[in-house]
Amino acid sequence: MKNIIVCTKIVPKSENIIFDTATKRLDRSKAENQINETDKNAIETALRLREENGGKVILLSMGPPFFESYLKLGMAMGADDAILLSDRSFGGADTFPTALVLATAIKKIGDYDLILAGEESSDAGLGQLPGQIAEFLDLPQVLFVSSLEVAGDKLMGKRTIRGGHETVEVEMPAVISIEMHANQARFPDFRRKRWADSDYKLTIWGSKDLELAEEVTGLKGSFTIVRGLVDITPPKRKKIFIRGDSKEITSKLVELMRERK
Ligand SMILES: Cc1cc2nc3c(=O)[nH]c(=O)nc-3n(C[C@H](O)[C@H](O)[C@H](O)COP(=O)(O)OP(=O)(O)OC[C@H]3O[C@@H](n4cnc5c(N)ncnc54)[C@H](O)[C@@H]3O)c2cc1C
Repeated sequence: MKNIIVCTKIVPKSENIIFDTATKRLDRSKAENQINETDKNAIETALRLREENGGKVILLSMGPPFFESYLKLGMAMGADDAILLSDRSFGGADTFPTALVLATAIKKIGDYDLILAGEESSDAGLGQLPGQIAEFLDLPQVLFVSSLEVAGDKLMGKRTIRGGHETVEVEMPAVISIEMHANQARFPDFRRKRWADSDYKLTIWGSKDLELAEEVTGLKGSFTIVRGLVDITPPKRKKIFIRGDSKEITSKLVELMRERK
């Protein structure tokens, strides 16, 4: 197999998601971060495919410089290489320029059989990126795949559907998104982590490396603008404690349900 490129997003832990109401952006400065959970399932899929079919697993991420240390965790899981796409002009992007930047980098890496991604990110959670990347690269796409195998020059992907699963066959190269919890992602290896932190040099590409004009990336290249953010306080739940023995509780409960129809 040739290169397996895994699109990997670094996201704030769910309990740390804070929106800056002034800039209408995620405030990442105070957040603890991690590799997006379903992207770990995509990395695990890539590593298993490499074990069976050879090839090289390359992690690809667009984001600020601090993503580097988290990508090294992916290197410690067993990836062969990681590339960070980082440039001030990439900031504030909606999905369109994000997909454009990732697809341009994928073309620059070249020699790929498979582009993997998670089914969605846990912060913006739009689930649009894999489909958009496939469109930019003019490749077939199979989304929400729970397991993947190589069969000659084709891939066989299993997708969960209501009441069972379907098996989809697609020619390589293809873009595949991996379903959440599709597998048990392996832990980073301690020795590889030490090597990644001290010796491994990550590749960083900016807009010049990708030959992308500033007008088509980041905020300038976005078609959508966040106009407002509203904090919604969840309504207070009304609690009623019903006391008594089981007979009294049951008849009170029935009475309450009748009242509320
Ligand atoms: C109107 C609008 C404005 C936005 N403005 C900002 C902003 O100012 N600042 C900001 O930080 N975000 C902003 N975002 C969010 C940003 O656009 C998304 O984070 C990004 O486009 C990816 O979308 P998503 O997270 O929904 O990915 P999804 O489509 O849910 O992700 C699916 C998969 O694609 C891959 N993927 C997604 N993003 C990346 C990435 N960056 N690198 C590598 N792989 C990736 C991962 O494998 C992921 O599992 C904005 C979004 C919108 C809609």
